[in-house]
Amino acid sequence: VKEKEKGGFLFFSQEIEKKNKKFREIETGLRRALVNNELRLYIQPIFRESNNGEFVITKGELLLRWIRNNRIVYPPDEFIKVAEKNGMIVDVGNWILKEAYRIRQKLIEKGIYIDLCINISAKQLENKDFLNNIKYLFDEKNILENWIFEITENVLIRDFNISTHIFKEVKKLGIKIALDDFGTGYSSINYLSQLPIDYIKIDRSFISKAGQDGFNGVILAITSMAKSLGVKTVAEGVENKEQLKLLRNLGCDEFQGYFFSKPIDVEEFIRNLNLLNKI
Ligand code: C2E
Ligand code: CA
Ligand code: CA
Ligand code: CA
Repeated sequence: VKEKEKGGFLFFSQEIEKKNKKFREIETGLRRALVNNELRLYIQPIFRESNNGEFVITKGELLLRWIRNNRIVYPPDEFIKVAEKNGMIVDVGNWILKEAYRIRQKLIEKGIYIDLCINISAKQLENKDFLNNIKYLFDEKNILENWIFEITENVLIRDFNISTHIFKEVKKLGIKIALDDFGTGYSSINYLSQLPIDYIKIDRSFISKAGQDGFNGVILAITSMAKSLGVKTVAEGVENKEQLKLLRNLGCDEFQGYFFSKPIDVEEFIRNLNLLNKI
């Protein structure tokens, strides 16, 4: 074997070793994070235009944060991937549901009635106890209303029949469903028309390209299709006023992004609600 190849292999195995090490670090850390209360749900408001042209908050998306000593330890997509691989996503997911329920109660105490969106991972959905867990955690009463589960478009590809079944069961509980990251997968109109979906969240990659050649047409195609299916569209990752205007003209119903607010701590959200609602 030539020296160069040996070097290449060594480099390769070192990379794998580094990755494995990080995986184990996240794994052990996450187990402790659950016990030590290092996980938080932040909230990012979602807006709709009212009749008088003002943008008002209709819902909030809850986004997971791992915080230790006031600092973010790992970004969510990174540690959620680990949790999905080792099965911890079930425990993390149940923690999220419980915490979301607590946040709901806190908001109601303050007289804030908005829908709350929870991200649900494909692995959670596939867990056979998922539906029972929701029923158990969310209780009977009025609590099943005003929840939206955000599920990525990609779960549809894994097994369409299973996802249809679960979607329908979730809907029976009164929970609404949003198809997240729309446009990054391959769901056909045929699939969509068979699913009980309430919202389509147009992926940020399209939103950031709004205004560029061809992309307005893509967004318009999505919003027209959604309208004909009776589904509302949410534009995610709206970062400036120009995008907002354009997306509104292209038929998007609701808007979310740094232009309005980053995801923030729930307490901060409650304190700033009046300001946020005056954008
Ligand atoms: P996502 O569900 O597509 O969430 C939207 C992401 O876009 C969030 O990133 C949000 O902070 C970010 N974002 C919102 N507005 C803007 C904007 O104007 N500009 C830019 N550049 N970004 C914006 P975040 O919080 O880092 O979450 C990343 C992903 O991690 C989420 O993507 C979701 O797939 C996953 N995730 C986050 N929280 C949860 C959770 O509680 N459960 C599950 N299963 N997954 C979660
Ligand atoms: Ca989401
Ligand atoms: Ca998304
Ligand atoms: Ca995503």
